[in-house]
Amino acid sequence: MNAEIIAVGSELLTPQRLDTNSLYLTERLNALGVEVVAKAVIGDDRARLRDAVRAALARSEIVILTGGLGPTEDDVTREAVAEALGRPLVWRQELADAIEARFRRMGRKMAEINKRQAYLIEGAEALSNDQGTAPGQWIEAGPGHYLMLLPGPPVELKSVFERECLARLERVVPPLAIRTRVFRVAGMPESDLDQLISPVYKRYKNPATTILAAPGDIQIHLRARAETAEQAEALLAELAPQIEALLGDNIYSRNGEPLEGAVGALLVARGATLAVAESCTGGMLAERITSVAGSSRYFVGGLLVYNDEMKEKLLGISAELLAGHTAVSQPVAEAMAARVRQRTGATFGLSVTGYAGPEGGDAEHPVGTVYIGLAAPEGTSARPFRFLGDRERVRRLATQSALDLLRRHLAR
Ligand code: AMP
Ligand code: MG
Repeated sequence: MNAEIIAVGSELLTPQRLDTNSLYLTERLNALGVEVVAKAVIGDDRARLRDAVRAALARSEIVILTGGLGPTEDDVTREAVAEALGRPLVWRQELADAIEARFRRMGRKMAEINKRQAYLIEGAEALSNDQGTAPGQWIEAGPGHYLMLLPGPPVELKSVFERECLARLERVVPPLAIRTRVFRVAGMPESDLDQLISPVYKRYKNPATTILAAPGDIQIHLRARAETAEQAEALLAELAPQIEALLGDNIYSRNGEPLEGAVGALLVARGATLAVAESCTGGMLAERITSVAGSSRYFVGGLLVYNDEMKEKLLGISAELLAGHTAVSQPVAEAMAARVRQRTGATFGLSVTGYAGPEGGDAEHPVGTVYIGLAAPEGTSARPFRFLGDRERVRRLATQSALDLLRRHLAR
């Protein structure tokens, strides 16, 4: 079965608001084995909405609208859908009573305009909304065609969908099992990765492979569809090991966990601790490490040494070393890692120093040059990196590479 989603609301056509409801709905529909084949964002305009609903129903078995069910005159989803189906809106006293009771519970009196929310399209079932006043609607639009009207506020949409739509959809959608596998990869450019694995995954339509790339972080999603869960697993069992073999230890996570979580798990497994010394990332590395719940088991703390004086005062890095090599250099990155390890007593010290831009750097060390140091019981080393992009991207890539350097060391 195919589905279309229509996000309704003039605010979704401004630069300030994005339709996120359809992402949530798509995930839920996919899990039921329903593919989303088209999405639209339409303003609060009755004629445009009516036309969009008609077109969607002509193409797809499932059409979901979100938004435009509010009490005010600008919300016209009910009227537009009624017109598209050629059905009247009918007053439902029990809905009006429920809305009124909700207002009473909040110690308020129902406004006259809220009565608009007590109208259902003829033949519709009301979908109760425990998070707001607007009920949703489930409509059998024709044989094998289903239309849902859902509220726009994301908490209301989710509640109505989970409680009221899922079970109804499960009754009408032919059963299909979907199994997914996610690999996350660091330390490899997207183009290299795709060149390596595309000859393999392109041979398979099922599982379908999707690659989602962020700076320094690539997710590979394998999605298998079959009649039973066992068959879907069997399809994954054929493709997944081939991809794993090609990527080897570039894969850092098999459960969707981010890099900071994977590093944390490795530190826990080893009973080791970590401290950081940061310059150009200004605390971003520590922020990522401590975003993991339970990171106090292995993260002891860090020093933010942005200028040379602090590198000297807080870490005891000599003025001679700084003057001789500059703060963005291999010897200084090594000294930062070694000193923070020494001063905190952590098992590992990790350091970052570089030019995040847009100004700074020199001919030999342009903007984007970052040194990352790792001090371990086995010894200390630092590596140069050259990142392209704006300040935010350079800083993000620096934290990613620092975490990945430690991960690879721990995984050895
Ligand atoms: P409505 O039900 O159209 O009155 O929507 C109420 C509020 O829900 C809007 O002001 C938006 O902030 C939010 N909203 C509506 N549609 C969406 C959507 N597709 N994605 C995310 N938020 C939405
Ligand atoms: Mg609206």
